[in-house]
Amino acid sequence: MNNKIKPDLDRRRALKLMGLTALSATVASCTDKGTENIMALGQTVGLKESEVPTDKMTYSTVNDDKVSILGFGCMRFPTTADGKIDEVAAEKLVDYAMAHGVTYYDTAWPYHGGASELTIGRALKKYDRNSFYLADKMPTWAINRKEQIPEIFNKQLEKCQVDYFDYYLLHNLQTLRDYKRVYEDLGGLAYLLEQKKKGKIRKLGWSFHGDMELFKYVLDQDVKWDFVQIQINYNDWKHARVPSKDLYDMLTERNIPIVVMEPLLGGRLARLNEQAIRLFHEAEPTMSNASWAFRFLGSLPNMLTVLSGMTYMEHLQDNIKTFSPLKPLTEEEFNMCLEAADLLNKYQTIPCTDCKYCVPCPYGVEIPGIFSFYNKIINHENLIRANGEQDKEWLEKRKIFLTDYNRAVPKMAQADRCIGCRECVPLCPQMIDIPRQLQRIDKLSEDLKLTIKH
Ligand code: SF4
Ligand code: SF4
Repeated sequence: MNNKIKPDLDRRRALKLMGLTALSATVASCTDKGTENIMALGQTVGLKESEVPTDKMTYSTVNDDKVSILGFGCMRFPTTADGKIDEVAAEKLVDYAMAHGVTYYDTAWPYHGGASELTIGRALKKYDRNSFYLADKMPTWAINRKEQIPEIFNKQLEKCQVDYFDYYLLHNLQTLRDYKRVYEDLGGLAYLLEQKKKGKIRKLGWSFHGDMELFKYVLDQDVKWDFVQIQINYNDWKHARVPSKDLYDMLTERNIPIVVMEPLLGGRLARLNEQAIRLFHEAEPTMSNASWAFRFLGSLPNMLTVLSGMTYMEHLQDNIKTFSPLKPLTEEEFNMCLEAADLLNKYQTIPCTDCKYCVPCPYGVEIPGIFSFYNKIINHENLIRANGEQDKEWLEKRKIFLTDYNRAVPKMAQADRCIGCRECVPLCPQMIDIPRQLQRIDKLSEDLKLTIKH
C-alpha cells in the first residue's frame, strides 16, 4: 500500500506516486471498461439495468475491511410531500446499493431530524451483519451534560438495531472550544474509547469542519485514529478556506484512511457552469459531471470511501457505474479537474452545500433555497461576472433573475426578510457569513429592480 504522499510534493510527482495509470496502490478489482452512456452535456438521464454492473465495485484496500469506494450517505433519503422519509423508496435504494456491492452506510443523529438512523436500521436489518459497515456519529454540538454521551450512544445502537458500529465519529468538529468541552471536560473521548474496547465501536474517527489549528490539535491527540472524514472535491483541493489538499496530505502522511464527504460540494459539481461543462464535455462527451468529481477522488490513494447522499435511483446507478470499476484519471484529466475548479472560482458563488443545518431560520428565511438559486444563476445565466462586466443580453437576464427569484423562493422567505440576528451563523459547517451573503443577494435584487425601472 502506498500511502506516502508528502505534503510538499508537487502534483506531477504526487500523481506518479499515486500510480494513476493503474491505481493499484489504492484499490482492488480495477479493469478499465470505459464509460459509454447517455449523459448529455454532463447530465445523467438514467441507465438501463443491464448497464449497471453488480459485481465490479471497486473496494478500498487501506484497511482490512472490504469497504466499497462508493459509500452510501444517509442524509438525503427520498422524502414524501410532508417531508418525512419515503421508507419504501429509501429501502429500495439501499437494497439496490447492497445488490451492487456498496458496503458502507453512513448515518448520523441529526440526519432527517433523527429519522435517518431508524430508516437505515430497518433497511439493513434483513442483511447479514457482516455484509455491511455501518457508520454513526456523536453529535458534538448537542452535548451539554456528561450523561448525554452514553444516552445518545445507546439510543443510536437501538435506533439502528445493531450491537456495534463499524465506524463511529466525533461529528462535525468545528471549534477547539467545543472539542475540549465535549471530548475532554465531559469525558466524551474516554467514553468512546471504552466502547471501542468493549467492541461496540470497531473503528473510531472524526469528521471535520474547522480550521487548521483544530485539525492539528485533534490529529496530535494520543489516540489511534482509525480514519478521518473530511470534505474533499476537486474544487476544494486548492480553493477552500482550508484547502483539502493540505488536510489530505497530512492524513496520508500518517497513514490515516480518509472518508470523503461533500464529493460534489452539495451538488454544485454536478451542476457546473457552462465553461466547466464544455471543458469536460470536449474531453469525454458521455461522462456525467458527477462522475468526473468521483473519479478525481477515487483516483487518490488512501481513500476508505467516498460518501454520496443519493436521493434518486438514477444518481445511485450513475455512481455505481462510475465505481464499478473505477476508471482512474490520467494526469491530464486530473489537471483538467483543477482547471474546471479555477473556472468555477472565477465566478463568486456561495459555498453552500444544502446541508440545511441552518434552517429553520426564526424569521422564515429560506437560506439554502436562496443560495442555491443564486449559485444556479451565476453558473448558468452568467448574469454577474466576478469583475462586474455585463454581457449583451443584460436587460433580458436581469428580468429572468427577478422572475425566477420569485418562483424559486416565496417572497416572505427571501433575503430581505433576514434581520441579521446571526443565529444561523454558528450552525453552518461551511462557515458562510449567512446574513452578509443574504444582504449581498438582496442588494443585487434591489439594484436589478432599479435598473429595470430606469
Ligand atoms: S441572520 Fe438572518 S437568516 Fe440567519 S437566522 Fe437570523 S434572520 Fe435568519
Ligand atoms: S448550514 Fe451553511 S452550507 Fe448548510 S444549508 Fe445552511 S448555508 Fe448552506
